[in-house]
Amino acid sequence: MMTIEDVYRKFDEIGCCSFATPDGHGGVEARIAHFFAYDDEGLYLRTMDVKPFYRQLKESGRLAVCGERTEAKVVFDEDNLPLFKPGYQMRVSGEVRELSMAEVEAKAAHDRNFNVAVHDIAKYPETRVLVLHRFHGELYDYDYAMARRDHKLYRERFAFGGDTFEEPGLRITDSCIACGTCLEGCSFKAIVPGEPYAILGERCDECGNCYHVCPAGAVEGKGR
Ligand code: SF4
Ligand code: SF4
Repeated sequence: MMTIEDVYRKFDEIGCCSFATPDGHGGVEARIAHFFAYDDEGLYLRTMDVKPFYRQLKESGRLAVCGERTEAKVVFDEDNLPLFKPGYQMRVSGEVRELSMAEVEAKAAHDRNFNVAVHDIAKYPETRVLVLHRFHGELYDYDYAMARRDHKLYRERFAFGGDTFEEPGLRITDSCIACGTCLEGCSFKAIVPGEPYAILGERCDECGNCYHVCPAGAVEGKGR
């Protein structure tokens, strides 16, 4: 199970990610940013009070972040199809709140990652520090060529600060007649034979092949 440190480290390895907010007019805007620290209260970011990003964070209280770490993708196989190198994607979505200067200083007293925020605030008083404190997310770790393991995908969902999440993967119901059709169509090795058959959610890409080929209508789609 992923800890908040794991989540931070994964984002830190990626470096800069896409930070998206509602724009207040029915749309959404994204920009490149990064988390600079974490602790038990959440993931920390900073911005300037004159930026639309800050206004949108304050008005909506919402933030979604995603990023990807992988090797160069422009490699083609013998069939002239792109060969994806192993890598992973991270995404989180949730609620933010602003920290006071006193809170930032208190954290800097025992975590040097916050020194940069103290420094920025001293040099640029318009600096604002916020924390993503209630959120859910997913690690999507792929190895489509199965170079490092015998299946393509490992995904894990998580939540912090009282948020909730839905487990990954489609689900097979008791309507399954154990015909095996879905097993043949799943290149993710996510389906386990049985009565009924079952889906390993952490391997399931939610591609929908099994849903569409099942003659018994036994595969449930996703609610959200
Ligand atoms: S295709 Fe449908 S009925 Fe057949 S094994 Fe898969 S889930 Fe069961
Ligand atoms: S949705 Fe796709 S990856 Fe998931 S079990 Fe069905 S065929 Fe496999």
